[in-house]
Amino acid sequence: MPDPATAPITIPADLLPADGRFGSGPSKVRAEQVRALSDAGTSLLGTSHRQAPVRSVVRRVREGLAELFSLPEGYEVVLGNGGSTTFWDVATACLVRTKAQHAAFGEFGAKFAAATTAAPFLEASQVIAAPPGTVALPAPADDVDVHAWPHNETSTGAMAPVVRVPGSRERGALTLVDATSGAGALPVDVAETDVYYFAPQKVFGSDGGLWLALCSPDALARAEEVESSGTRWVPESLSLRAAAANSRQDQTLNTPAIATLVMLAEQVEWILGHGGLAWAAARSAESAAHLYGWAEEREWATPFVADPAERSTVVGTIDLDETIDATAVVSTLRAHGVLDVFPYRKLGRNQLRVAMFPAIDPDDVRALTACVDHVVSRLA
Ligand SMILES: *Cc1c(COP(=O)(O)O)cnc(C)c1O
Repeated sequence: MPDPATAPITIPADLLPADGRFGSGPSKVRAEQVRALSDAGTSLLGTSHRQAPVRSVVRRVREGLAELFSLPEGYEVVLGNGGSTTFWDVATACLVRTKAQHAAFGEFGAKFAAATTAAPFLEASQVIAAPPGTVALPAPADDVDVHAWPHNETSTGAMAPVVRVPGSRERGALTLVDATSGAGALPVDVAETDVYYFAPQKVFGSDGGLWLALCSPDALARAEEVESSGTRWVPESLSLRAAAANSRQDQTLNTPAIATLVMLAEQVEWILGHGGLAWAAARSAESAAHLYGWAEEREWATPFVADPAERSTVVGTIDLDETIDATAVVSTLRAHGVLDVFPYRKLGRNQLRVAMFPAIDPDDVRALTACVDHVVSRLA
């Protein structure tokens, strides 16, 4: 029963989604993943990550991701502890030779730019910025050896193409794409990147704390070059070379969260079992088509991202008319178990943000918009 103090508006039970988790990360964990965890109880949890049972889970993750992303020849699935934020430091320490270029159009793109900018051993980064709700694209530049941008900017709900900057390969510049919230649900040709990296708590519906990176031979060679140059101190925990060496043995440098790996392996195999990346992308796109179409049909709702081609199919952002208090909508939904549709806090907009990862049933996105219609009609 909703608490009448916080929910003076009651949403009829038949409008509610079957599962109320719409957060953009950590995101919905499917019950089957939790069951796998329980099944792994005595055989995996609480056992050595250097022994065959846990290593076989890491192998499932690495082989599953290789299949999911049709990994190009010579690319490797590398993983380590610390999440995508730590991978920014790994990339800063091991992949940028002298200068990086970042296309930044939201919080996450800007954070990686801040990491390379702060590195005392690098030249000041070139940052190509665009306002939230739009997309900035990387551009040819003679003096940069890394081009970096997010596939999906989770803070704003804008997505960018993943295509190499023309001539970048010939110039020896690497392409690093932050796919934390897009990997596994947005179509991609990984050959257009040197590193396509992500973490398990978004599309893969697992817990946080790991980073995973699909690395090209050029990226691995760059790490080898930078780390063996002797001119830069690279802490072992940030060493891509050490991470790659461990990953080849289906291990991590230091102890990983085994539960995270089990739930990740389950989700990768769930997506593969339904037809792989194309299926996952279509399922998210179905939810997105509904969400944006719904907003466009309402006088009081507008997709935040103006260009339909840039509207994310995994994280949707919908501005509400100023006469409707989005915070009241969000808290009324929360009182009914419909969770985490608040906007990214620093964006500060009167907005709803809805994750549409493959784990989230498109029918539940339809139910969510019916709930919003109900709440808005009662608020008015
Ligand atoms: C969530 C997110 C991150 C941060 O991931 P952590 O694993 O919490 O460090 C980075 N980039 C994008 C695009 C994200 O969505």
